[in-house]
Amino acid sequence: MPRKAARKPSKPVPPAKTTRRSEAAAQPLTEQLKYFEERREKMVETIRHLVEVESPSDDKGACDKLSSLLAGRFEALGGHAKFHRVPNFGNHLQVDFGAERRAKPVLLLGHYDTVYPLGTLKNMPCRVEGGRLFGPGVLDMKSGIVLMLQAIEALRAWHKDALPRPVTVLLVSDEEVGSESSRRITESLARNSEAALVIEPALGLDGAVKTARKGVGEYVVKALGKAAHSGLDFEKGESAIVELARQIPAIAKFTDRKRGITLNVGLIQGGTRVNVIPAEATATVDFRIATMKDAREVEKKLRSLKPINRKCKLEVKGGLNRPPMERTAGVVALYSRAAGIAHRLGWRLGEAAVGGGSDGNFTAALGIPTLDGLGGVGEGAHASHESIVIAELPRRAALLAELIQAA
Ligand SMILES: [Zn+2]
Repeated sequence: MPRKAARKPSKPVPPAKTTRRSEAAAQPLTEQLKYFEERREKMVETIRHLVEVESPSDDKGACDKLSSLLAGRFEALGGHAKFHRVPNFGNHLQVDFGAERRAKPVLLLGHYDTVYPLGTLKNMPCRVEGGRLFGPGVLDMKSGIVLMLQAIEALRAWHKDALPRPVTVLLVSDEEVGSESSRRITESLARNSEAALVIEPALGLDGAVKTARKGVGEYVVKALGKAAHSGLDFEKGESAIVELARQIPAIAKFTDRKRGITLNVGLIQGGTRVNVIPAEATATVDFRIATMKDAREVEKKLRSLKPINRKCKLEVKGGLNRPPMERTAGVVALYSRAAGIAHRLGWRLGEAAVGGGSDGNFTAALGIPTLDGLGGVGEGAHASHESIVIAELPRRAALLAELIQAA
């Protein structure tokens, strides 16, 4: 149930009257932070409300319910909501603010699906304890959605009911299961945006943003031999399993941990019966790389594997699923701006490179300056102790509001 804010909200903060960026850089953002401090309880209540509308990626009905609710919230702030309808997942929600203006928007990117099946709330109720809010999807990433709402509301209050620049919000419903149905929408909106701000959870309890993410891909290496009876015609067979087994150490050697290149032969399959010389065997390899250059290098190495038994053949299929988010000059510039704002808010914003992918990988791969991990600060994403630190909400919202203007 919504609770009333304990204190009266302060007056709207006027936009800084500065013409030069250097002048703005010197000013502490005390008033802005105060504005969000006064709305902390309101943010907690809104997050709780979103968490209590469960939205597992694989339940279209549940997801559509949440996206309709979200569309209403963003429209109440003056946005124009549009659904990208898809048959198997929740409809992806796009909300445009100030689209009639010529300037390119900044893209606020996120997802409203969670990894938790319907009914999880029964055993994992949304609750406040020890300064934290617990609940399924609270960190990944329903608190991030509320930061978007709150930052937009504040910017409107500070700029006479209009955003200081065009903003596009995209909330997809399939991020937790690979973003297959939303990738093209994300990419097409990113192409027309000045920058992409990804409101996924921050890294660790000190709240670092993510300036690099590894790319992720998969290859299937198949060995083809010749089947034969293992007793009657042993000499006529060519074992695909023996061939594959000899290739695996070579594949494992392509790992170069110093450069962040890893290959994991995670699955092997082969053979039909114990008394048949196996004609086929496959190895499925998960690989992670930090740069596109490394992705091409790994691909080249895998595709040039040669059969050790000349009578066997090798087939290599697969490739990159999510390109790496590289720490380009555009990413660094965006991070510096964010760190400058954080400094004016009174804290030091760290940056980190991580192994897992997000939709930010897609936008960054297009060369669009991307900053990820701007969302909630907490622990336990995808786990039963998933939680956010409530005290972090105001400054994260303030950072986002200022960054929308500066990006
Ligand atoms: Zn997420």
